[in-house]
Amino acid sequence: MAFGWIDEQAEARRRAGLVRTLRPRPADSPLLDLASNDYLGLARHSEVTEGAARAARRWGGGATGSRLVTGSTELHAELERELADFCGFEAALVFSSGYAANLAAVTALAPHGSLVVSDAGNHASLIDGCRLARGTTQVVGHADPDAVRKALGTHTGPAVVVSDTVFSVDGDAAPLAELAAVCREFGAGMVVDDAHGLGVLGEGGQGSAYAAGLAGAPDVVVTVTLSKSLGSQGGAVLGPAPVIEHLVNAARTFIFDTGLAPAAAGAALAALTLLRREPERAARARAVARELHTRLTAEGLAAVRPDAAVVSVRAPSPEGAVRWAADCRAAGVGVGCFRPPSVPDGVSRLRLTARADLAEEQITRAVQVIGENRP
Ligand code: PMP
Repeated sequence: MAFGWIDEQAEARRRAGLVRTLRPRPADSPLLDLASNDYLGLARHSEVTEGAARAARRWGGGATGSRLVTGSTELHAELERELADFCGFEAALVFSSGYAANLAAVTALAPHGSLVVSDAGNHASLIDGCRLARGTTQVVGHADPDAVRKALGTHTGPAVVVSDTVFSVDGDAAPLAELAAVCREFGAGMVVDDAHGLGVLGEGGQGSAYAAGLAGAPDVVVTVTLSKSLGSQGGAVLGPAPVIEHLVNAARTFIFDTGLAPAAAGAALAALTLLRREPERAARARAVARELHTRLTAEGLAAVRPDAAVVSVRAPSPEGAVRWAADCRAAGVGVGCFRPPSVPDGVSRLRLTARADLAEEQITRAVQVIGENRP
C-alpha cells in the first residue's frame, strides 16, 4: 500500500489523543470567540464586508492571473500605497497570504553565501522561508540579541536577522530596538513578521516597527498579514522601494502565484480606512488583553503577560490543553489550543485573543469559564 505508512502515524496520534479535526464554524456561532485573530472585530464589520463585495463586483471573483500578467489591478496598487503609507514605509507588495509574504521576504533576501539568523520561536512560515532560502540558517535562542550578535560575528557577507515581532504562541514581543542596533553593528538587514502587531501595536495600530521607531528604515523589512486585525485575507511585505522591486523580480511566491483576490484587497482597504478613522480600536485591543491577563492571573491561572493582543495560558499537558479547550467550548467559550507538534513538548497552551469589541461582561464570562474548566 503506497500510503500504508500513514496508518502508523495516525495510530500514534490517536493513542496520544492528539488527532486534529476540522470543525466547520456555523455563520451564527453561539460561541463567545476568543480563538480567532479578528483582533479589532472588523472581519464582519459592514464596511469591511461591503468593501469586499464592491471589489468583487467591480473586479471579479478572482485576480485572473499572476501579478506580473493580469493579476495586478488598480485596487492592488491602491492597497499597496495605503499599507505602506499607514505603516510608514516607502513601498509595499501584496501577496495572497502572509505565509507567502514570509516565504518571499526570507528567500529573496537570503542569497547564496548569506547568513540567516532566526529566532527559535519564529512562526512556521518564517522557518519554511529559512528552509527554502539559499543562504545558511542559524537558529538562535528566543528574543536574545546577544545570541544574534554572536551569530553575526561569525559571518562575512550578506546577513539578515529574521524574527516575529509578536510571537504567536506566548504573545510576547521581540526586542526590536535592540535587534536593530545589533543588526546595524554588522550591517545586517532585518526581516520582521508583524502578523500580530499590525492593527494592535503603535498608537493607532501602525504596527511594531512603527512603535519601535523603525518604520521606513533602509535596513528594515516588515511582513504583515491582512487576515488578522484587518479582518480580510492576504499578506504584504513593506520596506524600501529597491527591496520591493527586488521581490517583484525574484520572489517565487510573488511571481508564480495568482494575485490576491479583489474581494480580499477591497476588504483590507476598507479595514485600513476604518482604522484610520477609529485608531482607538488598537488601544482597546491592548487594554482587553491586559485585563484578560490580570483577571486570569487573579484566578490563579498561569497566564503570560501579553505585549499585544495574544494572551497565552499555560496548560499542564498536551492532553490537558485539548480537554480544557473542549470543555470551554462546551461551556460556550471558544479558545485556541496549542500543543505538540505545533509547539515544542512541554509548551502546551490555551491561546486567547483579545478583541477590541469584547464587552466587560464577555471578559468576565470568559475568565469564569476558563477558570471553572481548568484540568
Ligand atoms: N506569521 C504569523 C506570526 C502568523 O501567526 C501567521 C498566521 N497564522 C502567519 C504569519 C501567516 O499569515 P497568513 O495566515 O496570512 O498566511
